[in-house]
Amino acid sequence: MSVSYWMNNKETIKNISCDVLIVGGGIAGLSAAYWLNHEDPNLNIAIVEKNELGEGATGRNAGFITCGSVEHFNRIVTKHGISEAQEIWKFSEDNLELLKEHILNGPDKSLIDFENIGFENKGSFSLASVENEFDELKKSAKIMDQLKIDVEVLNQAEIKKRLHSEGFVGGIKYLGDASVHPLKLLMTIKNKLHSQSHSKIKFYENSEVINIESQDGNKIIRTKKYNFESSIVILATNGYSSLLHSYFIDKIFPTRGQILVTEPLPHLLEGPCYANFVLDYFRQLPTGEMLIGGFRQLQKDSETGYSDQTTDVIQRALEEFLNKHLPFVRNAKITHRWSGIMGFSVDGQPLVGCIPNDPQIYFLGGFTGHGLGLAFHCGKKLVDMMYDRPIPKFLSAKRFQI
Ligand SMILES: Cc1cc2nc3c(=O)[nH]c(=O)nc-3n(C[C@H](O)[C@H](O)[C@H](O)COP(=O)(O)OP(=O)(O)OC[C@H]3O[C@@H](n4cnc5c(N)ncnc54)[C@H](O)[C@@H]3O)c2cc1C
Repeated sequence: MSVSYWMNNKETIKNISCDVLIVGGGIAGLSAAYWLNHEDPNLNIAIVEKNELGEGATGRNAGFITCGSVEHFNRIVTKHGISEAQEIWKFSEDNLELLKEHILNGPDKSLIDFENIGFENKGSFSLASVENEFDELKKSAKIMDQLKIDVEVLNQAEIKKRLHSEGFVGGIKYLGDASVHPLKLLMTIKNKLHSQSHSKIKFYENSEVINIESQDGNKIIRTKKYNFESSIVILATNGYSSLLHSYFIDKIFPTRGQILVTEPLPHLLEGPCYANFVLDYFRQLPTGEMLIGGFRQLQKDSETGYSDQTTDVIQRALEEFLNKHLPFVRNAKITHRWSGIMGFSVDGQPLVGCIPNDPQIYFLGGFTGHGLGLAFHCGKKLVDMMYDRPIPKFLSAKRFQI
């Protein structure tokens, strides 16, 4: 959206200057702020969010902090080759280690809501309902084993016993994965920023950026209430990126995900699970509720775009899946249903970069449903790039430049 002269000259608009302005108050925006502040504590950083912090995908996801990407490891190897596939996996492992070191195990424990953050490092399962998926999982486990990634192969009986489930022919368990209350994680990063930045980082919520212009060597970033002036802008707008800059139109696509949660149940699931070629996922929360999401594949057309509504078809499919595979969840009361918009990249890998021909606009996004496993480390890599340090090829947006 552009801003007319008539709209912008209102006396109520406040002018604010900063060194770096970050658009987007999700995990990507706050991670970028964290690493910028870590690099240079003197930077004045403004984080501008159109709603409240975490009201995008970050506060609507399933809370899996998992490695890899949108497909089984054997397919990542086929697509990228063994060495880059290993790099992709290691990148997410490091993401979790960085989160633990900088956010979850930092020196000031008063910044973390330990009772509610629900962080668990129990590993995650990939489950097959059909033999050909189990064959792929066994192939993946074999390669992972060669790369010294901790993985277990489980037959039908073992899966049944450890998950109290039915109808899976086998699966694998990757031992390093974790899960969390995603909004509490975001608020912990925010608390860290507050405590470390001595007011150098300011948050502007309920402020939609409607236009970014160049003026006298700086960027003017307009919202209805403020005109910001900054030499650097970082777009951390993920699924909404192409609404703000046309560069993203053929690179990051808004894609809806849906979830439901039941009432608390006895603890019978050993850890978070993926099923059906990573399309569907479920986990039992530390407080006992069963969460399940996925089945986007049933309504591919309507599950792209910006509409944030649940649909009967997908919600019914989530319930049927629970009834079929988890007998202890049958007849449980469903207490919450919701949806959220993710940013799916054109090749399934995240994008970290700078707009070609506009070195003042940087970005990170396109996490393709895996931002908790990627964004904190991507924030670090974005700052590396801004300070002329190299970043991995698989996430650099330069891969799209011809
Ligand atoms: C149903 C669902 C389940 C998911 N499950 C998982 C999971 O288990 N594990 C996992 O790793 N990932 C999961 N994801 C994906 C994960 O949530 C995202 O990858 C991650 O949150 C992306 O973070 P982000 O900060 O890039 O985007 P967001 O959290 O979407 O943040 C972008 C922010 O930008 C703001 N914004 C956009 N345009 C403007 C503008 N013009 N002006 C100001 N602000 C603007 C938005 O309001 C939003 O808050 C799931 C997502 C959904 C929807």
